[in-house]
Amino acid sequence: TSDHGTGDLPQDMAETVHVPVGGHPYDIVIGEGLIDRLGALVRPHLARAKTVIVSDATVADLYMERAVNSLEKAGIACGHIILPPGEASKSFAQLEQLTDTLLDHKVERRDCIVALGGGVIGDLAGFASSIVLRGMGFIQVPTTLLAQVDSSVGGKTGINTRHGKNLIGSFHQPRLVVSDLAVLDTLPSRELQAGFAEVVKYGLIGDPAFFAWLEQNAGPVLGGDRAAQRHAVAVSCRAKARIVAEDERENGRRALLNLGHTFGHALEAALGYDGRLLHGEAVAVGCVMASSLAARLGLAHHDECIRVERLFAAAGMKTRAHQLADTLSAGDLLAHMAQDKKVENDRLVLISGPIGDARILRGVETDIVAAVLEDSLK
Ligand code: NAD
Ligand code: MG
Repeated sequence: TSDHGTGDLPQDMAETVHVPVGGHPYDIVIGEGLIDRLGALVRPHLARAKTVIVSDATVADLYMERAVNSLEKAGIACGHIILPPGEASKSFAQLEQLTDTLLDHKVERRDCIVALGGGVIGDLAGFASSIVLRGMGFIQVPTTLLAQVDSSVGGKTGINTRHGKNLIGSFHQPRLVVSDLAVLDTLPSRELQAGFAEVVKYGLIGDPAFFAWLEQNAGPVLGGDRAAQRHAVAVSCRAKARIVAEDERENGRRALLNLGHTFGHALEAALGYDGRLLHGEAVAVGCVMASSLAARLGLAHHDECIRVERLFAAAGMKTRAHQLADTLSAGDLLAHMAQDKKVENDRLVLISGPIGDARILRGVETDIVAAVLEDSLK
């Protein structure tokens, strides 16, 4: 079968993506109904038949009982810790609470913590597991599309501080990632779309055939077609795994993963991280801006900008800054971009040439960036 069809896997078959990071490679298992097989999947990675599941209240209400049942059926004793949902949980206060509670559960260094939830839980529980007893194991069970295609892959963990997002953390790879596609059914559609923006990004930064596949399959992926979802998640994980394996600590190519993010972060910062705008929603508009910047620089064809914008629109997403809020201004956005850590070292990632060929450009003239912003605001 072609690399970009959904292949011949039966609907209920799981697919495995290997992440070959130096020293501590691991697998991502992607399939339907895996929460109910968690015990069997996790057991080989545990040194003893004991674990603690960390989740947020929303996810726990939906899936904790099934996860616990499956672990217990496999003979694994398991405690659970439930945190409030939301970005605010990635804090020192919650980290302190979580690490103390893990110690209350008498975890040992050879134990694994199971993070059941979206990127917030993965980042927080992952960070906790990297510092409790100087580093325990951890297993990710990502429950948002964003977490399945992005935050659970690559080993970045962390919390936020008053200085900004993700400024305290560690690189700590999981022992295993279990992505159950069926849990996406309960995800609010905005969250699903936000994760989809990161999926599109993988097409834009290196895989034109995948981008074309997404143009045909955005509906099935967002509508719950399991084979399409499995393909989208697996290709995305493979793409991120490949880049991360080449550049585990973000010295070079890993920066490509920030496509659309320089603009996206400026939009998020300008709107004040108050929940009006999800990260993936900002990335979608940011990717459209990045492609329009490439066109202005003569590095991409206008038709390609249209394809990028059309795909996000087909996913039901906003593609222009003026659709997000009428308070935004180009001046504000430029000021926020100047503060972004990725721009500080004069890096600006954008789409160039044909779709799939992103490249890191330095020293783009402010006037041209401003024109792109103005354009998106009208
Ligand atoms: P999230 O964890 O806050 O989840 C979004 C919302 O969906 C939450 O309210 C959650 O309770 C709910 N939810 C989760 N799964 C659900 C399900 N199956 N059904 C119904 N509701 C569900 O947000 P997210 O978008 O998953 O992750 C965002 C976080 O990820 C940010 O903090 C970001 O910094 C981080 N992140 C980290 C990396 C990394 O490499 N470590 C990469 C990208 C993003
Ligand atoms: Mg992102």
